[in-house]
Amino acid sequence: MRLVLLGPPGAGKGTQARRLAQRRGFAHLSTGEMLRAAVAAQTALGKKVQAVMASGELVSDATVIALIAQQVGEAHCRRGFVLDGFPRTRAQAQALEALLQERDLALHAVLELQVDEAALLARMRSRLKESGQAPRADDTEEALATRLKVYRRQTAPVSAFYQERGLLRSLDGMQPIDAVSRAMDDALDGIKTQGYAQ
Ligand code: ADP
Repeated sequence: MRLVLLGPPGAGKGTQARRLAQRRGFAHLSTGEMLRAAVAAQTALGKKVQAVMASGELVSDATVIALIAQQVGEAHCRRGFVLDGFPRTRAQAQALEALLQERDLALHAVLELQVDEAALLARMRSRLKESGQAPRADDTEEALATRLKVYRRQTAPVSAFYQERGLLRSLDGMQPIDAVSRAMDDALDGIKTQGYAQ
């Protein structure tokens, strides 16, 4: 199955995408993780995107489209994949559609986690304080505000793009983690995968 997980920063996309990929044997493709790895390794790409990421703004469409284009045809994606953090703009959604079409593939569903904004900020602030790991460069108060603003302006229209194609399923992302996972499974169990190339 080929899936997209949508939702604002702090909605729990990463956690849910990882769990879903594990349960079903799908590849987990997170552009945020790929970019953070590039920054950590200080590759040419990492150096290019570091400042933009730290500010909470988006890196260029061309950069992330290239990352995803390298992955979707690979062997580890054969059983399916869940995209986390991509597409984040309408142009990225269009590019994804085109690159899947070239390979005779299609998306099966887009799952959107709905959460309210006050709760998001509270969640991200507690992640900031409680996390035992080194904080992310974009987990500052200012970058959080930018990430939410960017989401509203550039990523919310991606939901409409998939709504138009009849792929969008919205879920309540405010429930406990296990309940969200179950709701995702229920949504996916209702989707027929026959008739697709894989
Ligand atoms: P979150 O959902 O918590 O905001 P991500 O880990 O998905 O975080 O992404 C972190 C940052 O990486 C984004 O704020 C952005 O700068 C960059 N990024 C990740 N995915 C994309 C994308 N599809 N398009 C543009 N920038 C991206």
